[in-house]
Amino acid sequence: MRITRVDTVPLDLRLKEPFIIANVAMRDMQFVLVRLETDEGILGWGEAIPAWEVTGETRGSVEACVRLFTDAGLLEYSLLGKEIGSLDAVREVMDAIEPKTGLRLVYGNPSAIAAIEQAMLDACAKRAGLPLYRMLGAENRPVEYTRNISILGVEETLARVADGLEKGLRIIRLKLGRPGAGGLPGYRRDVEVVRGARRLIEESRRGCLLIADANQGFVTVDNAVEFCRAVEGKLDWLESPTAAGDLHAFRRIKERCSVPLMADEAVHGYESALTLLELGGIDYINIKLMKTGGLLRALDLYDLAAERGVRCQVGSMIESVYGSAMGLCAALARPGIVSTDLNSFELIADNYASGIGIVEGRLRLGEGAGCGASFDEAALPRARG
Ligand SMILES: [Mg+2]
Repeated sequence: MRITRVDTVPLDLRLKEPFIIANVAMRDMQFVLVRLETDEGILGWGEAIPAWEVTGETRGSVEACVRLFTDAGLLEYSLLGKEIGSLDAVREVMDAIEPKTGLRLVYGNPSAIAAIEQAMLDACAKRAGLPLYRMLGAENRPVEYTRNISILGVEETLARVADGLEKGLRIIRLKLGRPGAGGLPGYRRDVEVVRGARRLIEESRRGCLLIADANQGFVTVDNAVEFCRAVEGKLDWLESPTAAGDLHAFRRIKERCSVPLMADEAVHGYESALTLLELGGIDYINIKLMKTGGLLRALDLYDLAAERGVRCQVGSMIESVYGSAMGLCAALARPGIVSTDLNSFELIADNYASGIGIVEGRLRLGEGAGCGASFDEAALPRARG
């Protein structure tokens, strides 16, 4: 089965309410779908979320990157005509366009490359008549659900924590890192919500992880250490406390306090993980397909981290149900993952795909051939231009 055509479809998706994190407040999302046709009439779909605050990509850059990979005149490499009828064949294409290490045809642009890979994997699994996770050697199982709470006032945040506990959720993830949030000085709001959430968890006598993501919002090591000391023993881990460019920050924070640390924005693909693991200081990595250049490299990154004793979450950039299904395939393929952040599709008002069920606080991927999610092309919420 060979690729005969690759197109992009820009989508505008609305969020149910603004999602507020340290460096950005999102109201709407700009997605790009990759639509791949083959000589056997099988269609494959991929989803790119250009997270300009993390990977520097935009809708325009994703469209341009995908176009580049179909224009041999520009890149001297084209996806058109490439064989993708088996997982090994897709791997071969990915080794060319997103190698683990070494020379690259295109630097960066991970969400564009991830969406191309998703479209190839989706088509490949549909041709085999199998769910993608099974092609990856995995079994289907329910995957733990994470409640994300964006940067709201102390009272509202704690009300949502209490509601999550009431519903029996087992992972609660607080967003932190906006100085002055909740009308309180400095990072006081963050200290209050972590202390309050831990108190609610203890009172509930339920086993529930309490984790927090600062999205780089404490910026400096000194700010992060001051916060960590104020909440000592109350967080199961803290994600991305400082600016992503300072790869030494994790080790420096670890020298001065004991909160386990997760890297997100500081780790993109396999090569940046190699560097950060070498520098030390991290206990966890938040792997996202939109940062690694796809699912296969995400699994490589997981294996690399596991060799070094570092555990991983499969996260998301607020993927829709479709992109989350791809993330779930990665999570199913590596049962050792410590958590997922793959229910962010609940934040999206106009989800265009279906295929993920939520059963007793856990995500359950559909069994259909392909990535597990599907949609009606005619009903896509296309971009207004
Ligand atoms: Mg994060």
